[in-house]
Amino acid sequence: MSQLVVMKFGGTSVEDAAAINRTAGIVRGRLGKGLTPIVVVSAMAKVTDQLLAAANAAGRGDRAGALAITARLRNRHLETACALVSAQVMAELGQWIETEFCSLDEVLRGLAAVGELTPRISDMVVSMGERLSSRMIAQAFRQRDLDAIYVDARQCIVTDGQHGKAVPQDALIEQRLKQHVLPYASAGQVCVMGGFIGATEKGVITTLGRGGSDFTAALLGGGLDAGAIEIWTDVNGIMTTDPRICPNALRVKTISFEEAAELAYFGAKVLHPATILPAVKKNIPVLVLNSRNPQNEGTRIISLAPHCRSPFKSIAAKRRLTIIDVVASRMLMSHGYLKAIFDVFDKHKCPVDMVSTSEVSVSLTVDSNDKLPDIAADLSQLADVKYEGRKALICMVGEDIRGQNGIAARVFQAIRHVNVRMISQGASEINMSFMIEDDDVEEEIRALHDEFFGDPDPEIFDVEALKESVR
Ligand code: ADP
Ligand code: ASP
Ligand code: MG
Repeated sequence: MSQLVVMKFGGTSVEDAAAINRTAGIVRGRLGKGLTPIVVVSAMAKVTDQLLAAANAAGRGDRAGALAITARLRNRHLETACALVSAQVMAELGQWIETEFCSLDEVLRGLAAVGELTPRISDMVVSMGERLSSRMIAQAFRQRDLDAIYVDARQCIVTDGQHGKAVPQDALIEQRLKQHVLPYASAGQVCVMGGFIGATEKGVITTLGRGGSDFTAALLGGGLDAGAIEIWTDVNGIMTTDPRICPNALRVKTISFEEAAELAYFGAKVLHPATILPAVKKNIPVLVLNSRNPQNEGTRIISLAPHCRSPFKSIAAKRRLTIIDVVASRMLMSHGYLKAIFDVFDKHKCPVDMVSTSEVSVSLTVDSNDKLPDIAADLSQLADVKYEGRKALICMVGEDIRGQNGIAARVFQAIRHVNVRMISQGASEINMSFMIEDDDVEEEIRALHDEFFGDPDPEIFDVEALKESVR
């Protein structure tokens, strides 16, 4: 069998018929190179948000609002399908899309009557986006002379039952992939699967968390020992920061697994934080590529980071965070105090991003979420508690900060006008993070970018693109 390559296309890469056409061309290109693509697709752009909005509206009892959203989605999918396949194929595909939307509307009506949205129903509703896109795209590929076959993600991606953030069961997934994907891939067929969704062993639909199609791609890559995992998106690769915040962000040509994982965890939306682990386990290179500019080399994520002249490779920001201050002079230096605090976060299944401690206080940062009042109530059994939202964490990542002097001074000089609430440099010494007000994030990222990427190392960053934009 020729080498397998997992190709994941995000929402914007399948947003309409034109984008799906481009996707088919990119897949054909890989076949032309003698590779066997396994394709993972997201829902069409914005569909997951809209499905969530419909579920929430129905959960509030707003039946008409929910059905208005699904009516628009139904039209969008029918129109796209119609533009992609022949009238003959459309007769069947169109009928299938209609039936799926009819059952979705049934669920939403029921939800509106009951007035309560459970995580299980929410997963069932949002999974529609990938279920629709994957079937439609498999058909579209076939019409473009690709020997494509639709594979139901629910049969392959086995997870536990934590709806909204289900945990994949690696061993079972490997077995299922051998059963439902490998035989087709070995025969040279292009398997097309929806990302983001899975099912429990009993067949209840689950989802892997927002942006989870990247994770599906990595699970497939790991489970099938693929030669590479390609993440096709709407930017040229991993950039020195989010190009929406800083238009002169540069493409990073090569980055290490460790650096990419840190960036993804600390907010760089280009990659889901769990994408790296399955790839690291089997040392499979991950490439981030632009489906609107497929000629571009993109970013290559590999195990060993190349040495770089500048200390950082990229800057990420995690927004809408809350700082919780726990102050307890009476517990000063007492044994088991930190454990008691972390037990509270554990009880509420709430991940903590950053921690700093002083003699009498502990400050922690968490995603702003509706469990905060309950967490604060539990913590107040131990100490005095204050919490403050609208904060953001800026995370500067690069393996070359190890052992370099004076970097912190440069960072804090660049952002000297703002109030820094917490600072941390991890033991891995590849990231430097600090908390500031959410409102200041964009301006400070631009200031830091000017400071550290003003004279970029051409070995690591795509400076050619910079020259072209100046011309
Ligand atoms: P997809 O739908 O293809 O999964 P996403 O919207 O999830 O795409 O991720 C791509 C977006 O991530 C880009 O459009 C960009 O705005 C954002 N982004 C944030 N940080 C970075 C970064 N460091 N490099 C590249 N893109 C980034
Ligand atoms: N469609 C899902 C989302 O928007 C998963 C993904 O696109 O990766 O979160
Ligand atoms: Mg994404």
